Amino acid sequence: MAIEQLLILIKPDGIKKSLTGNILTKLSEARMVIIGAKVVKVSKELAEQHYFHLKDRPFFGELVDYIQGKLYGEPYDRVLALVYQGEDAITRMRTLAGATNPEEADPVSIRGAYGRITTKGVYENVVHCSSDMSEAEREIKLWFKPEEIVKYIYPTKKITVEKEEEIVWE
Ligand code: UDP
Ligand code: MG
Repeated sequence: MAIEQLLILIKPDGIKKSLTGNILTKLSEARMVIIGAKVVKVSKELAEQHYFHLKDRPFFGELVDYIQGKLYGEPYDRVLALVYQGEDAITRMRTLAGATNPEEADPVSIRGAYGRITTKGVYENVVHCSSDMSEAEREIKLWFKPEEIVKYIYPTKKITVEKEEEIVWE
């Protein structure tokens, strides 16, 4: 079995329902290590890039609003983004997450226990979980910079950039 990495997002419905602890506890059953973690207020651009593969589906606009937390607003319009690493991580984490449709998901999986289908038909399924290694690589690179992860899991290079303004501690 190969060592894999994947992206997990605790989506805004998971934040709103105060499920962060429950979800992390459930995921810890797989005995993976967390190698990156941050809270992200999701821009429209990031949301659209993340769900790029679904752009032709009729629910795409609602999906983008969902991952941005538009339904919930302050202070729930954010996600907790995590990178996990471990043996056979993708299959094992997806099993703990459960099927995409919360109604069909194993009732003791995260999505089965906590997900719902909105009246507009969107599957609010509490977590995102990369589904294969190439998707995981694309998503981890989309959500994280190399220095935000405790190991360089993909090849990196050094570049020189023009210094722009930045926020520092006063
Ligand atoms: N989704 C939905 N209706 C569908 C398919 C997908 O609302 O018929 C949403 C759901 O929130 C899902 C996300 O779109 O998690 C991404 O869909 P994907 O097919 O990639 O499922 P996942 O990989 O999240 O299980
Ligand atoms: Mg997917």
